Parts: sequence; C-alpha cells; structure tokens
Amino acid sequence: MISTTSDILIIGGGIGGLTLALSLHKRGIPCQIFEAAPEIKPLGVGINMMPHAIRVLTALGLQPILENYGVEAKEFTFFNRHGQFILSEPCGKYAGYEYPHFSIHRADLHKVLFDAVTERLGPEVIHLGHRCAGVEQDDDGVTVRFDGAEPRTEAIAIAVDGFHSAVRRQFYPDEGPPHFGGINMWRGVTRRKPFLSGASVTRIGTVARGKMTIYPIRQFDDGTQLINWSTEQPRDDHKPNDWATPGRIEDFIEPFKDWSFDWLDVPDLIAGAEFILEYPMVDRDPVDKWTHGRVTLLGDAAHPMYPRGGNGGAQAILDAEVIARFLDEMDDPQAALQAYEDDRLAVTNNIVMTNRAQPPDVIIEKVEELTGGEPFERLEDVIDPAELVAISESYKNTAGYSLTAVKRLECSV
Ligand SMILES: Cc1cc2nc3c(=O)[nH]c(=O)nc-3n(C[C@H](O)[C@H](O)[C@H](O)COP(=O)(O)OP(=O)(O)OC[C@H]3O[C@@H](n4cnc5c(N)ncnc54)[C@H](O)[C@@H]3O)c2cc1C
Repeated sequence: MISTTSDILIIGGGIGGLTLALSLHKRGIPCQIFEAAPEIKPLGVGINMMPHAIRVLTALGLQPILENYGVEAKEFTFFNRHGQFILSEPCGKYAGYEYPHFSIHRADLHKVLFDAVTERLGPEVIHLGHRCAGVEQDDDGVTVRFDGAEPRTEAIAIAVDGFHSAVRRQFYPDEGPPHFGGINMWRGVTRRKPFLSGASVTRIGTVARGKMTIYPIRQFDDGTQLINWSTEQPRDDHKPNDWATPGRIEDFIEPFKDWSFDWLDVPDLIAGAEFILEYPMVDRDPVDKWTHGRVTLLGDAAHPMYPRGGNGGAQAILDAEVIARFLDEMDDPQAALQAYEDDRLAVTNNIVMTNRAQPPDVIIEKVEELTGGEPFERLEDVIDPAELVAISESYKNTAGYSLTAVKRLECSV
C-alpha cells in the first residue's frame, strides 16, 4: 500500500473525484480534493447509473441513500417516431443483475457523494475554489499549482478535472478542440404524472427524423415525478460544451409537434419544462497514455465520451475503484498508476469509439431503415424481435454493462 503519510491529491470534485476519495478512504489511504467551483450548486439534469456503476457505489454503502433520491429503472423501452412500440427489455435487478439501475438527477448523485465524503473524511479534505493551473514533478514528489491559492506537494496526483481538464491539456498541448459528432442535444426536466411503468428508460425515434430519450429521475410524495427528457438533432455547428448553457424550445421543437401519443404527450412534456439546457455531442479522440510519472488522468479527463448511454459517469466510477485497488495492493504508487492505466485505457477507449459509431438506440435505427420511416402493421413482419435483442446485447457487451460483463467484475471496493 502507498505510504499513509502522504495524501493523494485529487484534482476535481465531480462524480469521479468524490468516488475516488470514498474508495481510497475505505482502504485507509488519505487524500485531499481540490475543486475549482467556489461552491457546490445543483447543476445538470438526469443521468443513468447502471448496475456496473451501482456495484461500486453499493460496496461504498451508498445504495440505500441513492434509493431515496433516484428512481429504480425497470425497463428500457424503444418506440418509433409514430409512438409504436418496438421492444422492452428489463434492466437492473429486473433483468437479473445483482445491482439495480438508478435514473437520477446528476445533482442528486453529486450530493450523495459529496455528503458521504464530508461525513466520512471530514469537510476539511474538500478544498473549494481551487482551480488547478498545472502540475510539476521530480524525484521527490508532484506539486499541483492553483490559480490564486497555495500550491500543494505530495507523492501522487490524480487529475479528475473533467472534459476540459487542465492537466490533460498540459500533457497534450496540441490536442485541439473537441471532436463534434454533428449532433446537438437539448435537455430538460418536467414534473408530471408517471408514464408507462413509471420507471421506463424510453427511447423514441431517430436522430435524423426526431429523437427523444425520456425517463423519470425523482419521485414525489404526491405521486408525480421529475421526468428527464433529451433530444439529439443533426446540426452543422454548436456552442462550446458547458453543462449550464440555456436552450430554447424553438430551436428543436419542430420534429415533435405531432408526437401526442396515447401513452405520452411529448409536446406537452417539453412545454412544461422547468428549464432547458443545450449541449453538443462532443468527445475527444482517445489518447494512448494517461499516466505520466506521479500523475494520471481519470474519468472524463482520461476518456471524454459522448454523453449518451449513461456511461461517462459510470466509467469514472469504475476507474476510481480500480485505481484505489491498485494503490492499496501495490507498494510503488507510480507502478499502481501505471497498472490502473493498463487495466482501464483500452476498455474505455473502445467505449469512446463505440459510442460514436453505435448509439444505444441502434435498434430504432434498424426498424426505421427497414420500414422507410413509415408506421408498421406488425413488428414481426419487419424484423425478428430476437434479432433486436441480439443487437442490444452486442451494444451492452461493448459498453461493459451486459449481465455477463457485470457478473465477471469482482467487487473489491
Ligand atoms: C456541472 C456539470 C453538470 C453535468 N451535468 C450532466 C448531466 O446533466 N448529465 C450527464 O449525463 N452528465 C453530466 N455531467 C457530466 C458527467 O457528470 C461526467 O461525464 C461524469 O460524471 C464524469 O465524471 P468526472 O468526475 O470525470 O467529471 P465531472 O463530473 O465533470 O467532474 C469534474 C470536476 O472537476 C472540476 N474541475 C474542472 N476543472 C478543474 C480544475 N482545473 N481544477 C480543479 N477542478 C476542476 C469541475 O468543476 C468538476 O466538479 C455534468 C458535469 C458537470 C461538471
């Protein structure tokens, strides 16, 4: 195990950084978190946490608290743009996983992690208003520099500073702007009565002709839910990716004007939004090295991926578990950082590329292609439902959350 006299420096207090702190603490390894934001505010919208990530959070004792905040999803449902049912697949425990699938507000997930760190490690380990400006290292240690705050030197630093990572930029100064996939997203949350099972992660339509992903993320005592919805539409250009960029209904509503299905009125859902955010479908080309001596990258800093399929947060959580395990098991911390990279880099780079090529709604695309986008009489005349299930399984395998993939993972937190 790494010497417990040296704190691990964690740069970034988002989903990955906070999970890392909890994972290290569980193993008796001290750490300090340096977060750029001067205060913690509820930001973002919904996020899906599937069993591969919940396995790690459960081992950290967080499952009962997550149950109070999120909605335990029962199924993935797929519809064409005419509102016709294509497929329903059970998810989480309903599909035989040992762990549930939670749909949750990103701000709630962040709060659960933040509160757990504050309670278990003490509020003094979280340093808000500490924006990392760069790192320097030599044989004795690594120094993390901050804008307007004292630098800090320890044996190891882990950069979990998100999509716009300052540390990644230092290692890859020529990387250039994010890769834009030609798709813009608008997201919002609307409070209303439940639809379908009240716990359905629902995908409707295709990017080319109008697409919606809709799922509940909070349950209220009066029986209503906070419903997260998002649309992806082809666009030639985009605004810089910032999770707080406000969006406007008139910029994306056109394909949905007649989407009043008997099971959900989509225009009404959109019109009732509490707020709307805009975010482009961006990622970065994978890099072949995260670990540079005493410093490594983790989460979005290491493998920024398209924010769909619910995997960006999950992969950061898995990274955190793996790196904490190696730091616990190995005496040489630099070797532990390298072992983490060897374990995680190829897997996550593969997900980045799969997310570009094959989104989770590939099933709907397939039906759209076979029907020419027209309504069908009987789905079985269009495609064998078993083939749709096989396409879905193939995606889950690559994304690392198929039943067999999750069962293979050893819970070692
Ligand atoms: C405000 C916000 C809202 C989001 N909303 C959504 C959402 O609605 N849906 C969704 O699917 N995903 C959302 N995401 C992204 C998602 O949370 C991440 O993809 C995922 O959790 C990966 O975790 P991470 O810890 O690597 O990165 P993040 O969770 O993005 O955390 C990175 C952290 O590092 C901090 N940071 C950045 N630069 C520095 C620096 N130089 N020094 C110190 N700290 C720094 C950031 O403030 C942030 O707290 C959001 C991210 C953020 C930051």
